[in-house]
Amino acid sequence: MKNRLFSAAVFDKIRNLTRLCLVSMLVSIWGCATVYNPATERNEFYFINDRQEAAIGKSIANDIIKKNKLVKSRKELSYVRSIGKKIAQVCDRNYLSYHFYILDDSGMNAFSLPGGFVFLNRGIVEKTTEDELAFVIGHEIGHVCARHSVKRLQASLGAALVMGLVSKGIENDLLNRAVDIVYNVVSLGYSRKDELLADSLAVKYTYKAGYDPRAGISLMGKLEKDDKNQYTMIFLRSHPPVKDRINSIKEKIKELNRK
Ligand SMILES: [Zn+2]
Repeated sequence: MKNRLFSAAVFDKIRNLTRLCLVSMLVSIWGCATVYNPATERNEFYFINDRQEAAIGKSIANDIIKKNKLVKSRKELSYVRSIGKKIAQVCDRNYLSYHFYILDDSGMNAFSLPGGFVFLNRGIVEKTTEDELAFVIGHEIGHVCARHSVKRLQASLGAALVMGLVSKGIENDLLNRAVDIVYNVVSLGYSRKDELLADSLAVKYTYKAGYDPRAGISLMGKLEKDDKNQYTMIFLRSHPPVKDRINSIKEKIKELNRK
């Protein structure tokens, strides 16, 4: 349509200004702030606080638990939880309460949800050494510490959140939307940059927790082999080729050794 009131450029400007206004409204209403994130080593802006993040994560976790078969064996659960606890204690968001679950699935897969909910498949628990599993958990907790899904959520929910603030009772609707977005992010996988950062954080956390971060390298080999049969797995589906991930892990280990 050529005869519209604004040209595309003007329209874009107005849209950006509106966005800016909404963001500043959020700053004043929500009390959010720019915070230094040690996981990304950058100043970041959050308007979804820890409590809201945990509520979103919990809601999705409950849904997954309801719809899937979980491994209930005490032995396997306490094994996973004891590794998880060690990683959680040394990670960049060690004040969160982390939850670990094993899905009864033979594929080598793992994923995490905002707020610290970590899901591992039985397959990845069975086919890895303790150091390798610590790396998997470190990688998943890395996504939580870098707030990868929260940032995607913020980008998609910005305006909706403002609406939620001004009209009471929309909280549930908002939560549903948030759940949909996170589901999408987690099932489609993160960006190449986010995956490499999660690997790098896994090196840092496993090392700090007393595990051997070189296990990340052997883990990649196992995942690649497994992926030939199960190409749908999320942990490997993401874009960086295994070769790049291994090189980046080696670089990070070298960096640790120089310190
Ligand atoms: Zn990942």
